[in-house]
Amino acid sequence: TTTFPRPESTRIFTVANQKGGVGKTTTAVNIAAALANQGLSILVIDIDPQGNASTALGIEHSTDVNSIYDVLIDEMPMAEAVAQCPDFDHLQVVPATIDLAGAEIELVSLVARERRLHNALADYLRERDGAGDRVDYVIIDCPPSLGLLTVNAFVAANEVLIPIQCEYYALEGLSQLLNNIQLIQKHLNPALSVSTILLTMFDGRTNLSSQVAEDVRAHFPQEVLNVAIPRSVRISEAPSYRQTVITYEPNSSGALSYREAAEEIAHRGAQRNG
Ligand code: ADP
Ligand code: MG
Repeated sequence: TTTFPRPESTRIFTVANQKGGVGKTTTAVNIAAALANQGLSILVIDIDPQGNASTALGIEHSTDVNSIYDVLIDEMPMAEAVAQCPDFDHLQVVPATIDLAGAEIELVSLVARERRLHNALADYLRERDGAGDRVDYVIIDCPPSLGLLTVNAFVAANEVLIPIQCEYYALEGLSQLLNNIQLIQKHLNPALSVSTILLTMFDGRTNLSSQVAEDVRAHFPQEVLNVAIPRSVRISEAPSYRQTVITYEPNSSGALSYREAAEEIAHRGAQRNG
């Protein structure tokens, strides 16, 4: 077994694509799980009101638990909203409750509306650093829109991970996403980079899947990971057991490919930093 290098400083990823159903949440939780399995310290922040990442990681997210809503709207310290994932020692989650559906509107009238997640996360990471308990990776799971919640995620992050579903409409909407990211870079977060693109739901038996994969690789040769995530029933079943595929079926092709993707991410980060 290989061990993944520990990054020199906390890497903060936003998993984004304004399309729904492309594998954002599946990617966020499985990459987080694969990294945590290597002993790295991971924080997942769920900012999708659906709370699917919270569910997949076995975290309670009924409206009475402390959540990212309280952090964003009521300035609750993030430490008070962090919950421990039952399956991985080094994986913690800030869950999302359905209250977050209203936050998109509530944020509009608040001060520093685009930076609230950044501010809360920076304070929390500083505390963890100070306690000698550094977080290695933060992974933020976004809703399928480019609204203020996603803007908060872009402002809080250093890297964007874009999952792309290997289907006909894959590249449609991508230029809109990249334009938005450019605006964020220009006005709000110059340090943000689209470091990683991951092909998901790849079906090697169809010409279409291979064609889409080829197109995306041609457009983004640096960013696309070598491994593509196959379409797999095990991956889609895992959340109904409140698990990631990494624990649900560790030897499945889905688990193996997410582990490989996590390893590529870890090694690429190490190269870029030095
Ligand atoms: P998003 O967060 O972008 O809306 P999800 O990660 O929730 O997308 O994925 C959408 C649906 O597709 C879910 O039901 C999920 O279980 C399923 N799914 C995701 N990745 C795969 C895959 N590689 N193979 C099969 N099903 C998948
Ligand atoms: Mg999702």
